[in-house]
Amino acid sequence: MSLIVQKFGGTSVGSVERIQAVAERVARDHAAGHRMVVVVSAMSGETDRLLNLARAIQNPPAPRELDSLLSTGEQVTIGLLAMALEARGVPAKSYTGAQVKILTDSAFNKARIEAIDSANIEADLNSGKVVVVAGFQGVDANGNITTLGRGGSDTTGVALAAALNADECQIYTDVDGVYTTDPRIVPEARRLERITYEEMLEMASLGAKVLQIRSVEFASKYQVTLRVLSSFKDGPGTLITTEENIMEAALISGVTLNRDEAKLTVLGVPDRPGIAGAILGPVADANIEVDMIVQNVAADGSADFTFTVNRNDFDKALGILQGIAGELKAREVTGDRKIVKVSLVGVGMRSHAGIASRAFRILASEGINIKMISTSEIKISVVVDDKYGELAVRALHSEFGLGG
Ligand code: ASP
Ligand code: MG
Repeated sequence: MSLIVQKFGGTSVGSVERIQAVAERVARDHAAGHRMVVVVSAMSGETDRLLNLARAIQNPPAPRELDSLLSTGEQVTIGLLAMALEARGVPAKSYTGAQVKILTDSAFNKARIEAIDSANIEADLNSGKVVVVAGFQGVDANGNITTLGRGGSDTTGVALAAALNADECQIYTDVDGVYTTDPRIVPEARRLERITYEEMLEMASLGAKVLQIRSVEFASKYQVTLRVLSSFKDGPGTLITTEENIMEAALISGVTLNRDEAKLTVLGVPDRPGIAGAILGPVADANIEVDMIVQNVAADGSADFTFTVNRNDFDKALGILQGIAGELKAREVTGDRKIVKVSLVGVGMRSHAGIASRAFRILASEGINIKMISTSEIKISVVVDDKYGELAVRALHSEFGLGG
């Protein structure tokens, strides 16, 4: 008899019919003898609707009050799902985050889980009940309701699986697994059977929006076996696990396209110690996250400094650089928001040389100019003009034989 945590996202519980379908599935697994904990998101669109209500009254909304409001979305779905199970003769009990006691810090709107009191849940499981838990929410030491950040129900699922030492945490969503790349760009893209936490983390932070990044970090830290599956069609999904559990690692697991990037360049600054800090300090102080960084020293001893930020932060970052250009003795500040980042991800890269040159050669043969490069042990990223993004993805996907 195994203990399974299942998490259902907003579209999976988006209507009465869909909640009934989730109840059917849960009832089936319960009847097969599994001990079941089910985590649900709010009905699709509900969290946005609540957020808009809040903003119509106070903008930005008071953080503590926003969490009281947003947490109601998940409270609706736990009640409804527990009823749908009861109606099928399956004993069920719903819990808000506070009722479980999912203890978090007090960072409203982006709280982190600190501890989970699993005693009540375990007692219910022992008496044969299905336990239904509201995702995305917790409670701080002072009894305030907190939420975990958008997409946070994934993290609730993984955290509960870790606390209960579950056999598997199954994330049911509207896609049937993790793909080698976005099938809308490459129709031959293939569902991956297995992928490592590390690869999934890279893919998630590089633009594959299947799981909340924090949930993957959590799963990796506590070695929770994760599976992404479709709630609409049966299938094995994609298993996310440790490298040891993957017999033969593929050379490359996936290609991602991140369209949210923009790049900024400070030209002709003096090449002296402290210049990188002087440029990036004020950017960091404005809470702008910097991704790739490249610095070049020219023959005349001056340096050019280029970095990328999220496209939403482009104007703000450009304003900051223009403000400090004089002080930095920079010749010019330029920017380009029409760029994208294309990345190859694979743990197999670690033991194979020559992947990067092969990737660069194929991009060149398509006439694609590379503007920036960054690499890690399991990833190669290039920045290219946004009009070449999809072409680059297709070329790399086919060069490395990732199609079905
Ligand atoms: N309902 C929350 C959101 O829309 C949490 C979640 O769905 O995971 O972000
Ligand atoms: Mg979600």
